[in-house]
Amino acid sequence: MARKFFVGGNWKCNGTTGEVKKIVTTLNEAEVPSEDVVGSLILFFWVAEVVVSPPFVFLPLVKSLLRSDFHVAAQNCWVRKGGAFTGEISAEMLVNLGIPWVILGHSERRAILNESNDFVGDKVAYALSLGLKVIACIGETLEQRESGSTMAVVAAQTKAIADKVSNWDNVVFAYEPVWAIGTGKVATPAQAQEVHCELRKWLKENVGAEIAASTRIIYGGSVNGANCKELAAQRDVDGFLVGGASLKPEFIDIIKSAT
Ligand code: PGA
Repeated sequence: MARKFFVGGNWKCNGTTGEVKKIVTTLNEAEVPSEDVVGSLILFFWVAEVVVSPPFVFLPLVKSLLRSDFHVAAQNCWVRKGGAFTGEISAEMLVNLGIPWVILGHSERRAILNESNDFVGDKVAYALSLGLKVIACIGETLEQRESGSTMAVVAAQTKAIADKVSNWDNVVFAYEPVWAIGTGKVATPAQAQEVHCELRKWLKENVGAEIAASTRIIYGGSVNGANCKELAAQRDVDGFLVGGASLKPEFIDIIKSAT
């Protein structure tokens, strides 16, 4: 089954109202192939699904200003039904605001906020149960890579999610090696392809051949306008989750790297 190229922009904890409006204007003015305009199946392979993820407080603003062929994602949500959880944002609230996507399990939350594999798995399952679409992040640290445990780490993170998911239609995996995030040290196309291929194999063996073939695995970690094309050309790289460069005009070049 064909996998539509996916480009996510993770704005992280950045931006003022003015800056956010400026980024949205750049996106809205960008000339990228759009299904809304063309509506043709032939374009399927070079029209990317584009999702930008501003901080919570800017979600309604961005949603209201953003072109209709791009969508928004939250950067996190609470693990179960909302209630007495001060400072949290529930999945119900995202649904209520019409936010279709949520990023879960980002390495910054795993590392800084101690989110465990199990906790991330629970979050993914709960968000999906409410109809949200999920960008589920996984990836190894430099220490883990150097000790040869990359695939074991990625498989354990994936298993904690896979154990709780039955419908895979709304899941995109973002493979983001921690050592590549925000460091300018991008994975080589071969390194990215190797893990994506292994992950797809893991999904085939543990979840099913059809789901392995149809689930998108995107790469994240120091992607920019200069390195995206070569990465996008890899067989199992189905798009990107972009941090720093998603705040800049070069994000448009990354969207255009859809192959
Ligand atoms: P980066 O971040 O592109 O700035 O490395 C990617 C991410 O954290 O999703």
